[in-house]
Amino acid sequence: MKNLLLLEFFPDFFVILHSDMINEYQLRVLPQVAASADYLRKYIAEEQGLALSALKAVRILKRSIDARQRTIFVNLKVRAYINEQPTEDEFEYVDYQDVSQRPQVIVVGAGPGGLFAALRLIELGFRPIVLERGKDVHERKKDLANISRTQQVDGESNYCFGEGGAGAYSDGKLYTRSKKRGNTEKILRVFCQHGASTNILADAHPHIGTDRLPQVIEAMRNTILRCGGEVHFQTKMTQLVIKDQKIVGCVAGGKEYMGPVILATGHSARDVYRYLADAKIHIEAKGIAVGVRLEHPSQLIDQIQYHRKEGRGQWLPAAEYSFVTQVDGRGVYSFCMCPGGFVIPAATGPEQIVVNGMSPASRGTQWSNSGMVVEVRPEDVDNVKIEKCKNVKMDNPLRMMCFQEELERMCWQQGNMKQTAPAQRMADFVNGKLSYDLPRSSYAPGLVSSPLHFWLPKPIASRLQQGFRTFGKQAHGFLTNEAVMIAVETRTSSPVRIVRDQDTLMHVQVEGLFPCGEGAGYAGGIVSAGVDGERCAEMCALYMEKNG
Ligand SMILES: Cc1cc2nc3c(=O)[nH]c(=O)nc-3n(C[C@H](O)[C@H](O)[C@H](O)COP(=O)(O)OP(=O)(O)OC[C@H]3O[C@@H](n4cnc5c(N)ncnc54)[C@H](O)[C@@H]3O)c2cc1C
Repeated sequence: MKNLLLLEFFPDFFVILHSDMINEYQLRVLPQVAASADYLRKYIAEEQGLALSALKAVRILKRSIDARQRTIFVNLKVRAYINEQPTEDEFEYVDYQDVSQRPQVIVVGAGPGGLFAALRLIELGFRPIVLERGKDVHERKKDLANISRTQQVDGESNYCFGEGGAGAYSDGKLYTRSKKRGNTEKILRVFCQHGASTNILADAHPHIGTDRLPQVIEAMRNTILRCGGEVHFQTKMTQLVIKDQKIVGCVAGGKEYMGPVILATGHSARDVYRYLADAKIHIEAKGIAVGVRLEHPSQLIDQIQYHRKEGRGQWLPAAEYSFVTQVDGRGVYSFCMCPGGFVIPAATGPEQIVVNGMSPASRGTQWSNSGMVVEVRPEDVDNVKIEKCKNVKMDNPLRMMCFQEELERMCWQQGNMKQTAPAQRMADFVNGKLSYDLPRSSYAPGLVSSPLHFWLPKPIASRLQQGFRTFGKQAHGFLTNEAVMIAVETRTSSPVRIVRDQDTLMHVQVEGLFPCGEGAGYAGGIVSAGVDGERCAEMCALYMEKNG
């Protein structure tokens, strides 16, 4: 039995340990062994020939699932404490000091970029004043519930605006493809320090879950306040204060706040981009990716990815997938996959439908979704045949934002001018057929059957059709009418870059302005926005030190 469960060890596992010591082992075990701390502990003790009482504790340092073969393994790196208890903390804590009497820095936006910038400023001895247009993370929840009830979106409090930013009621996946940009591990530790499960330090694909994120964000806010910083809600920045080509503050909620500005307003603050364009503060158009949310029954994804009829069973989490291909010179790929999650209405204003996805910590719903998107570059916009965008020329920095807006408006028109989203079964879309009915979906405002193959811009629809055919060949059963496509996914990244100097991270043209996070076009996702927030805080601190 034990050899069946514990399938492969590195040689040092067999060292027999009787004295007090800590040892680390790499294990490759079946999911049922990895799933229970007690079971794992018993198992290691048995394999080591130790009395269970001698194995005082086991800490999992790394965990990943290997589902490439029919038999699924969990790879673990564990630390075992033999005849001694762990004395060290599970992770290194950050020391936040009192900054109430220190010089202040204005942080606009309380998303991951802004919050991590504020916390890093405190570490560095500066006092952050955080200005956030939306409500606090708990108040905000009521406005989210209202979207499905009233079919209306509050322009200041929604899935993108409010404390925690787009990261608060998000999926809370905490992995980033970019390892270059800074200390991603530190971001995870700061989340743990504020109440996230320490599992995120071990998991290959860490995830907090939309139900747990609000408490973590609230704890981050409390650290800022306890250290003497300020956080102002329902305080929208409307103007920067410019003196001698330098940013010396901003106006928000009708009041002036003085200090250099870290601008972390996210990818949906279109009024901020318009303001910057009007104020002639250099910005440029940036490529984005647009498409749909694709929702399958989670059981089907589990069956496909775990190669077994019974699906994930008792011990495995809802399965993930990732697809990428090229069609006619543009990337087509899955984005922000949410196993066991929901599709949600992520619009930020009237006459828009925007969809996105999230999942709770348990990832236990009946559905699994992902964005399925096609890369669109500024030069592609002339081919998409959206009338209004034709007049927005190549050199217009708002070119891609206009395209995004018009696509969202088209979608809203197709969705009966409410938040009911136009949708089509996946195989029907590929075959160019209207769906006569739609499957049950997690999208709470409701779906309306619509020929997406017909009205989505051709360069997007035809690439998606081709991409789906390819993915269907790669994963048997994936291309199916049991899956539904929900339009439209447009907020995958910022359509604008607020151009900054590579070394100082300051705006290329005006001093004292630090464009930060996803909205600046330099990050995508919670962790990379957090890393960017920390870097902007560091550069802003240097700037403050140099300029007295
Ligand atoms: C539903 C959903 C699910 C997601 N899931 C994941 C995921 O699982 N993993 C992941 O890595 N990423 C996910 N993302 C993306 C992620 O949330 C963003 O990449 C990240 O939040 C960007 O951080 P940011 O701080 O740069 O901007 P944002 O989070 O967008 O924050 C910007 C903040 O600025 C505020 N603001 C805007 N304008 C003003 C103004 N004029 N004055 C004052 N405040 C202003 C906004 O209200 C907002 O709070 C998801 C996004 C959504 C919408």
